[in-house]
Amino acid sequence: MGLEDITRRIRAAEAAAGREPGAVTLIAVSKVQPPDRVEAVLAAGHTVFGENYVQEAQAKWPAWTARHPGVSVHMIGPLQSNKARAAVALFDAIHSLDRVTLARKLAQQIDEQGRSPQLFVQVNTGDEPQKAGILVDELPGFLTLCAELGLRPQGLMCIPPEDGDPAPHFALLARLAADHGLPGLSMGMSADFETAIAHGATHVRVGSAIFGARDYG
Ligand SMILES: *Cc1c(COP(=O)(O)O)cnc(C)c1O
Repeated sequence: MGLEDITRRIRAAEAAAGREPGAVTLIAVSKVQPPDRVEAVLAAGHTVFGENYVQEAQAKWPAWTARHPGVSVHMIGPLQSNKARAAVALFDAIHSLDRVTLARKLAQQIDEQGRSPQLFVQVNTGDEPQKAGILVDELPGFLTLCAELGLRPQGLMCIPPEDGDPAPHFALLARLAADHGLPGLSMGMSADFETAIAHGATHVRVGSAIFGARDYG
């Protein structure tokens, strides 16, 4: 547990996979965490954070990024289309580009604001009806639409089904990214980031293993 331990485990997983040290970006997922825990990780010099909710991120990050230049904040949660304007203004990356209406809104906002957060297309690798994400069969068409809108996603993102082995989902996402020439792979959380790194993750999203359990009370 903790930033140092997770960083060490990431370096070991990179080495085990024959990858360069630092090939994997650690996104410290700070959603819902008490400010003192986040401030401790900022003070330790960590620079990449993840959030799930636009309003929560808007309320807490501007003050922190003012004090810690060079910090970037990534949106990893579901994004409502009516929050696209705020999201483009606030985030350095959006990992949850998961539908056509959102692609259109983001393209419009990127154009208007002259800001271009990195984009990851979320893929529903488990074909789960309740889960967000582009279905595997629909990915080629969705990427074509993104290109028509002037969006250039830099990678794919997935959240494997809760039960079962995540490895086949990571392998599938890696294959899809390679098929489409996309360099980024946002995959792996507290419980499975080492497996994700073995399958080529470039961005792992780790929350509770760094900050401790989240209290939604
Ligand atoms: C909350 C969240 C995480 C981090 O989960 P942990 O299990 O705490 O590491 C990663 N990715 C997404 C999309 C999340 O919503």
